[in-house]
Amino acid sequence: MTEAKIIDGNLFSAQLRDKVAQRVRDMGLRHRITPGLAVVLVGEDPASQVYVRNKRKRAVEVGMRSFEHTLETDVTEHELLTLIAGLNDDPEVHGILVQLPLPKHIDAQKVIEAIRPDKDVDGFHPWNVGMLASGGVGMVPCTPLGSLMLLKDHLGSLTGLKAIVVGRSNIVGKPMAHLLLREDCTVTIAHSRTRDLPDEVRRADIVVAAVGRPEMVRGDWIKPGATVIDVGINRIALPDGKSKLVGDVRFDEAKQVAGAITPVPGGVGPMTIACLLRNTVVAAARQHRLHGEDEGI
Ligand code: NDP
Repeated sequence: MTEAKIIDGNLFSAQLRDKVAQRVRDMGLRHRITPGLAVVLVGEDPASQVYVRNKRKRAVEVGMRSFEHTLETDVTEHELLTLIAGLNDDPEVHGILVQLPLPKHIDAQKVIEAIRPDKDVDGFHPWNVGMLASGGVGMVPCTPLGSLMLLKDHLGSLTGLKAIVVGRSNIVGKPMAHLLLREDCTVTIAHSRTRDLPDEVRRADIVVAAVGRPEMVRGDWIKPGATVIDVGINRIALPDGKSKLVGDVRFDEAKQVAGAITPVPGGVGPMTIACLLRNTVVAAARQHRLHGEDEGI
């Protein structure tokens, strides 16, 4: 049996960022609009600081305005909500992202609900969640959107395929399942209480693993020829004291069986920021009623 095709998320995300940059240039030239992304970071979580830095760097690279707000860990919920209200009203800000997790004294759901739905480029606001579930037009969460783009690029039409999403979080699993349903897949959502998980996975033409458990999905769970999207990002310790990133799928085993598979790193990871930029340019187009400007990217 031939080895799986490796789905190159670095390449695809670079192409998507180029398309976004082109759209940003066009909006500037034709409409004098520069899409703006505001990123709010609370506290000093090192991983969050890295994510925020990368988001800012990529936003500037594609020609957007980037507004960064770094708040102390002990900022009050009221102060954070006041900042968001200001960003909601700022016409130069088209997209607002509050980096999660937030400190425990702040109600994250309340903060998400304070963001204007048309500026909610993360797609976490209940209005956007409802739009995705009911087949309407809203903002789609970045990681599932990026995963879907990779799937469609590899498979073309997904109609009629059996898909399993392992994981049911609000930020990955559930929106991913809705997106696959929208593409006419027959979708199973698996979670920690699912019985006979390997058997469920074996039935699927598309496997999306979003569990947060290093290399949990084994090669003999995969149906021969299936397409595997590994959303997981887990850092594991090596015997020599170093560490490395692995996904939720045992890559060396799965690539012997699958038809195609995303690597970790270099698969879904880079798609998340590219889709954030895509969502910001789409948000700017919608807010300025530039109909058709958000199509095709
Ligand atoms: P969560 O912890 O919020 O959700 C994990 C899900 O996996 C839950 O629904 C849980 O089930 C399920 N699960 C846990 N253990 C098992 C098990 N043994 N068998 C079956 N299901 C199980 O994680 P996220 O959705 O936020 O993230 C998932 C992974 O994706 C993580 O590795 C994360 O780092 C990564 N990630 C990557 C991103 C990227 O940019 N590529 C972005 C976001 C996340 P239950 O609901 O029953 O508890």
